[in-house]
Amino acid sequence: MNALAATSRNFRQASRLLGLDSKLEKSLLIPFREIKVECTIPKDDGTLASYVGFRVQHDNARGPMKGGIRYHPEVDNDEVNALAQLMTWKTAVANIPYGGAKGGIGCSPGELSNSELERLTRVFTQKIHDLIGTHTDVPAPDMGTNAQTMAWILDEYSKFHGHSPAIVTGKPIDLGGSLGRDAATGRGVVFATEALLAEHGKSISGSTFIIQGFGNVGAWAAQILHERGGKIIAVGDVTGAIKNKNGIDIPALIKHKNEGSALKDFKGADTMETKELLVHECDVLLPCALGGVLNGANASDVKAKYIIEAANHPTDPEADEILSKKGVIILPDIYANAGGVVVSYFEWVQNIQGFMWDEDKVNMELKKYMNSAFNNIKEMCRSQNCNLRMGAFTLGLSRVARATLLRGWEA
Ligand code: GLU
Repeated sequence: MNALAATSRNFRQASRLLGLDSKLEKSLLIPFREIKVECTIPKDDGTLASYVGFRVQHDNARGPMKGGIRYHPEVDNDEVNALAQLMTWKTAVANIPYGGAKGGIGCSPGELSNSELERLTRVFTQKIHDLIGTHTDVPAPDMGTNAQTMAWILDEYSKFHGHSPAIVTGKPIDLGGSLGRDAATGRGVVFATEALLAEHGKSISGSTFIIQGFGNVGAWAAQILHERGGKIIAVGDVTGAIKNKNGIDIPALIKHKNEGSALKDFKGADTMETKELLVHECDVLLPCALGGVLNGANASDVKAKYIIEAANHPTDPEADEILSKKGVIILPDIYANAGGVVVSYFEWVQNIQGFMWDEDKVNMELKKYMNSAFNNIKEMCRSQNCNLRMGAFTLGLSRVARATLLRGWEA
């Protein structure tokens, strides 16, 4: 099942639990606006290359639409639609005053030079600048993009509209970025994990973890779990996977990776089959990379007791069913990885106020938002008698539905 079908299926299930009116359901499902643009750039060797860029603005009932821009070869219309929809529920679950959007360009960023990436980002911004804005749609980084990408968008956008620091979040600190934003998704994942484990009488320091994906989210989550005494017994990324039952030295692994070396060449662990990683014995499994990695082919072999969805839609509906029958507890993406967009909100607030917060304040506020969302999800689970995924979806949907009804339909 593709990402859009899976997301819409969760949406419909939550909508049925809430007993939403079918007209309201339809209006919540259809995106506000879908943008698809051609981005042609001269490559460094003088030849031309064309890419397709997307921005899907899903819903703005609760505030400006918000979400990342992804550079990845698998980016297509359906995936961006699914991710935009997830952002609407995610911002509502986190209770920040935003709607949802997502963008992307179908490309392999690793195969493009820095100047090609800059040209591509600027052309994409030229094509969409009229349709985004500080109070309409605010992009941020996602897979394959980073603070530098946001700096180029800010600069290009500002040529048309004047200096506009709040047009993007996840910017470099020197351009108005927030302290703590780089680590925020990973840190939020750890706060979410802590809340879930505490509910079950467990703690990070008494648990073993497997991290799949060692980019921004996976590496920060691993680092913070490690600082809190968590034992990370296996880590994997596209280059391979490694394990050490006594716990991997995460700061040393991050240093190894930052030096440009592949995970599998890390001396402090043994290599393992990449497909073994997701089904290896552990307490907590954290998929931190692409969607759909847990599916009908591997779900019945999963041995983890808890799955924290640090990636967006890592568990497909078939796996969801198999895992819940096995009693595996899944903390859903629209809550578990909301830390990034929560600190994006803090960044936007700081830009609008023209006042910078210190990192302790950012991290403390993030913890408050993550804990409060967890308690709100648990209340929904109790009142709807449902699992955590449906608790999060019904929470998000009910907030967006209320805002939509309050605003009314008159044209
Ligand atoms: N790309 C991140 C996400 O999927 C962050 C989005 C944002 O900060 O707007 O949640």
